[in-house]
Amino acid sequence: MAPQPKARVALVRAQDYEPAGVRRALERALALLGGLEGVVPRGAKVFVKVNLLPPPSPPERGIITHPAFAEAVLALLKELTPHIVVGDDVHEARSFELGGYREMCRRLGVELLNLRERGFVEMALDGGVLKKVYIARAVREAEVLVNLPKLKTHALTTFTGAIKNLYGVIPAGLRTALHGEHPAPQEFAQVLVDIFAAARPALTVMDGIVAMEGAGPANGTPRPLGLILASPDAVAVDAVAQSAIGLDPLRVWTTYHAHRRGLGVGDLREIEVLGESLEGLRVRDFRLPPAAGEMMGRVPAPLTRWATRHLQAQPVVVPARCVGCGACVRACPTGAAQLRGKKAWIDRKKCIRCMCCHEACRYDAIALHLDLWGRFFRAAERVVYRDRR
Ligand code: SF4
Ligand code: SF4
Repeated sequence: MAPQPKARVALVRAQDYEPAGVRRALERALALLGGLEGVVPRGAKVFVKVNLLPPPSPPERGIITHPAFAEAVLALLKELTPHIVVGDDVHEARSFELGGYREMCRRLGVELLNLRERGFVEMALDGGVLKKVYIARAVREAEVLVNLPKLKTHALTTFTGAIKNLYGVIPAGLRTALHGEHPAPQEFAQVLVDIFAAARPALTVMDGIVAMEGAGPANGTPRPLGLILASPDAVAVDAVAQSAIGLDPLRVWTTYHAHRRGLGVGDLREIEVLGESLEGLRVRDFRLPPAAGEMMGRVPAPLTRWATRHLQAQPVVVPARCVGCGACVRACPTGAAQLRGKKAWIDRKKCIRCMCCHEACRYDAIALHLDLWGRFFRAAERVVYRDRR
């Protein structure tokens, strides 16, 4: 007998960010799930977590949750409750201006919050790598958490979406420190899942209208997919999105660990996809990041050091593009990224290949280098781990 689906994900099309089209698509997705009111009680205090990155990250680069997408979700939420706060934890308030969020929230009359302004509260954790964590007060105090991730690749974790978006609810300093303490992709994924367990969204709506392929999450290429995914199960949203871009969800560490811990459903056989056919929308040529992340952790223990050296990409500064802004230096947990004169420089001995510098650089001035072994295994990994359903 075929297994019964445990999770439902609405998968709908939206050709671009034209407001009326996005709203229609969202209404369809939510109707397929039984309506927004089934997830967000009338009058509830709602926090909406978007994915913002340091400026300059204009919406058209595919780095952030598009403000037109967020606006359409917020407008629907406003029909149910006036108590809505939207935000993320950002280093510079300019992120809100340049991302189009300041203007959009003013127009809608919704509060826009930089999470650090209201502080963080300690929370004990049970069952994963972390024993405690600090979660944004605004998130803890909300009655309903709505998660609006962007569908993107990630140089360290292969994929970033629903689970990874919640990493932004902890303080920036802790985010950097945890990268330093848990640099291996499979271990860092467990940290992400710990934080996800502490901040579980009631609803996830993923912006896959224009996704990012290649060297994500900030220096890849925008890739129009025309997809919106929605579900109360964030893990299932990630799984369907991963499958749509040709990844086997249970080979992506975040999905694997969240599924194993019962925090959601990552196995496609247990997910009912509503709306469009996943098979019909699957993108066969989606470019994945230059790293063999899924294979890391699946090599025998004695080979771990060797594997780290060869399967994880190495960041390399491209001096011609470097403007000396120092963002990589501030993001580096080990002091490996430094400024020498007006150009960045990386101390190989200190580098743990966490990719924070790559994510922080907005000038595409940190390239990812895989040696011959790395390139060979990456090619093998793509053959072995691709989702062929
Ligand atoms: S590498 Fe990028 S982030 Fe680092 S200083 Fe140069 S431009 Fe800035
Ligand atoms: S140089 Fe980059 S990859 Fe290396 S430790 Fe620093 S932030 Fe991480």
